[in-house]
Amino acid sequence: MIIAIDVGGTKISAALVKDSKIIEIRKVESIVHQDLAYLASYLINLCEGWTEQAYSVAVACSGLVGTERVNFLSANDSLPLKLQLETGFGLPVVMLNDAAAAAWAEYSLRPNPLDSTLVYITVSTGVGGGIVQNGQLVMAADGFCAHIGHMSVSRPELPAIECHCGRFNCAEALASGTAIANQASSIVNKAVSCKTVFNEYGCHPEIVQLLEQATDAIVELIANIKALTGTGIVVLGGSVGSTHLFQERIKKKLKALPTIYQVELVAPVSGEHADLIGAALYADSVIGCG
Ligand SMILES: [Zn+2]
Repeated sequence: MIIAIDVGGTKISAALVKDSKIIEIRKVESIVHQDLAYLASYLINLCEGWTEQAYSVAVACSGLVGTERVNFLSANDSLPLKLQLETGFGLPVVMLNDAAAAAWAEYSLRPNPLDSTLVYITVSTGVGGGIVQNGQLVMAADGFCAHIGHMSVSRPELPAIECHCGRFNCAEALASGTAIANQASSIVNKAVSCKTVFNEYGCHPEIVQLLEQATDAIVELIANIKALTGTGIVVLGGSVGSTHLFQERIKKKLKALPTIYQVELVAPVSGEHADLIGAALYADSVIGCG
């Protein structure tokens, strides 16, 4: 069995995984924004009693996840998490970005993959994703790779919006749940969540325009990704990306693109534990069954 751990900004989940099935799962509050010094021991304690049954540990993390170190962006600190966990667990450890893990789950679990290239995009609090190119997960040693939410898109007649990464008009700055909520709040003159925007302001003319711009940004992102990877399939997930409204608008706009940019847009199949299952499947593919 594999111990899979998903380290997010608000929640941490750990599971014992066998053959892509979750045998047991535990969930706790995240300490990523409070105390990184104790993160490794916090994770090891969470998995108490599992070590003897497992042959490896797979860790999916938010932020920049390199082969050895993790940089949790909001914490602005880099941690040698792989070495810390290998020492603590006494098992081999594989780390990857959480959206990359979900991409691997989508690639591995899709019943009849037509192509060995697949791109997963998640539009949620932020915009993230993962790229599987020719059967390999695209990764970089420092972890800044396939962070497709930070690809910028053009919107020539509209004011540029600065992204927290330091560039302008990143897809994340235009189309994430956070971006939609922030822009909608200034339109309706009160703080609204992205969910409220979708549920209560769907007919407000300026909000309609805002959602048009957000979906335009994702469509342009998909066209850029198609030009980069040649993928025929794009999985669109996340709490915002999975909504019917978002999926339908994007599908319609994709059809208007020139033929070479056309992709098949599909919903995720890997479920709520995609990060855990994808991390476990990826560790299995690089470490094997011990
Ligand atoms: Zn950015």
